[in-house]
Amino acid sequence: MRGIPRVLIFALLVSVSLVPIVRDADLVKPHAAAYESLGSPPVVDSTTIADYHEFSVGNFTGTEFSYLNLSMKLNEAESTVEGNLTVDFYNDDPVPFSRIPFHLYPSGMLYDSRQGNITILNVTTMSEPAQEMLYSVLWEQQLMWVNLTDSLLPGERTEFHVEFITTLPDGLDRANAYGEDGDQSRTYTVSSSYPIPCVYDKFDGWNTDPYLGVGDPFYIDMAFYEFHLNAPNGMIVAATGELIESDSNGERTIYHFDPVLPVREVTFSASRHYQVESANVDGVNVSSFYLPNSQTEWEDDVLEWASLTLTLLNETYGVYPYSTLNVVEQHGFYGGMEYPCQVYMTREVLENVRAGTLYPEFLELVVVHEVAHQWWSQLVGDDCIDWGFLDEGLTCWSHNYYGEVYYSDWEYLQYYRYLDTVRLHHEESGAGSVINQSNYERPELVGYIDYTKAPLILEKLRIEIGHEKFVESLSYFFKQNYFEIATLPDLQEAFEFVCGENMDWFFLPWFDNPFLPDYSFTGVVYNLTDGTVTISVEDLNEVSNPYPYSQQVLVRVVNDFGGLLLEEMVWINGTTTFSRSVSTRPSEVCLDYEDYVLVDLISYDADSLSTRNIQVVGTPSLTNLWGFIPMELLPVIAVTGIVVILVFYVLVNRRSRNATW
Ligand SMILES: [Zn+2]
Repeated sequence: MRGIPRVLIFALLVSVSLVPIVRDADLVKPHAAAYESLGSPPVVDSTTIADYHEFSVGNFTGTEFSYLNLSMKLNEAESTVEGNLTVDFYNDDPVPFSRIPFHLYPSGMLYDSRQGNITILNVTTMSEPAQEMLYSVLWEQQLMWVNLTDSLLPGERTEFHVEFITTLPDGLDRANAYGEDGDQSRTYTVSSSYPIPCVYDKFDGWNTDPYLGVGDPFYIDMAFYEFHLNAPNGMIVAATGELIESDSNGERTIYHFDPVLPVREVTFSASRHYQVESANVDGVNVSSFYLPNSQTEWEDDVLEWASLTLTLLNETYGVYPYSTLNVVEQHGFYGGMEYPCQVYMTREVLENVRAGTLYPEFLELVVVHEVAHQWWSQLVGDDCIDWGFLDEGLTCWSHNYYGEVYYSDWEYLQYYRYLDTVRLHHEESGAGSVINQSNYERPELVGYIDYTKAPLILEKLRIEIGHEKFVESLSYFFKQNYFEIATLPDLQEAFEFVCGENMDWFFLPWFDNPFLPDYSFTGVVYNLTDGTVTISVEDLNEVSNPYPYSQQVLVRVVNDFGGLLLEEMVWINGTTTFSRSVSTRPSEVCLDYEDYVLVDLISYDADSLSTRNIQVVGTPSLTNLWGFIPMELLPVIAVTGIVVILVFYVLVNRRSRNATW
């Protein structure tokens, strides 16, 4: 029996030597060093985090915003809204203004037979008696310029009054009067339908972009609002802000809504047919407003999805500070749309689900997505035209995170798999796709980039730096830009602060390159002398991209019997060469693209790259016996070895029995 343990120990030694040797020094991102010359992580402005703590409990003392007092009167028969807007405009920019532009969006919205429009009746001073002020309306640009009586210096305020009438279009766009009372589907949705002050920034000066057909065209500063609505009795109204009071005078009711804290705009939707459900979640009155014919899908579920999203994102990023949040059914050609304290899901998306042209989870996706926009585009604003991928990317990542938390699958709400779509995009479209561009520069790619590639790249970042740092960075970004406008550099800055390193190695290639990596083996060499395999991988797309990529890829090396000689995550930094010790002669080297390795693919199932073209060099040495012995002889050697051991064992035992001790 003594011989058998020896055989076992021998076998164990062989298996230990098969475990790949991992060299710690190789587990780095070489490009991180290359980018260090571009600068250190930023110095943190701790006052912004202090602001977050004050703002999140409603304390804005010492921080100035514009103040808008808006009154609207809904005329049901005419589908119009009579409006009065008092603007107390605060100049928080470093330049004086002699005039201020306002968006007049409704004329850019879709319509069937009645085009949307804002007619300006007059602009007057706040003095008594009121004086007419000069203004000009540019129909094509959907703009009104108000000429100020005096130059408005930085840090100063000016006040004036605008009287207008809005005609609601009859199309399936963000504002409309649509549906019929006969089948209880009539709604009046009033969004972006009053003169809204444009944003001035260091990139563009005044951002006067008209309503656009691609992406979201909105870019709006935070302001304090008071909102009064005069609506016919019998209407049920969902609006931005707390309902402070409502007064009925027989035929009409006047509602007073107050968001209390600054918001980017106010919206309302009114219908004689809305049904309402409410729940208190984390101190927020969450409500759903839906049409009777949608009850089957909306009842209980929409409120539940919105509430779960609110709870999750409050914990993940930071506080939603308002006291109300509405999810409201409207008519629209899209799935849903976000506004401060109120989001919409369309009747049309529900009809598509019922018709089977959209899968049932799409309703949950829309609700979660639009609610998540409260964090990304509302509380942290952005220029949705020049940086639209930022709020959509973060929002899509968030709704997928909801899928991960509540359904244990980050891809649960993906009606097509982001990973496959992005890997095949170049093959199928023939086009590159730079994320970090304005919607004007790549209008045909807005849907793909904002809703698929951008959230996938964020997920890629989570995989590279780990969940905790990723979420901490997003939370930091949220708090630093709370009630403000943010850009991609602000996002990078937050990750650099949390990770403590320059993040150009990630942000530059993944957000600014048109093409994903396309790896190819340029050489695999096995050295008989020292038992190392040297693998050279080239990124064929490196010449077409401004920045080299760095990502971890699973590398596998096997021998002729399928024995695993190496299995290791290796940083592939553009064109990369690396060496590893292996215990026997390798026969195949493989890059495994599972686990979110991002590369150009030509088909879904071509998700690895392998080669058997291995050059053998060097001379055999005693230190590398196993590498020297050709693999095809191993069975013969093994059988011979076992026979020799058994013969030896028999001989020894026979000699022991013959001995006379
Ligand atoms: Zn969105």
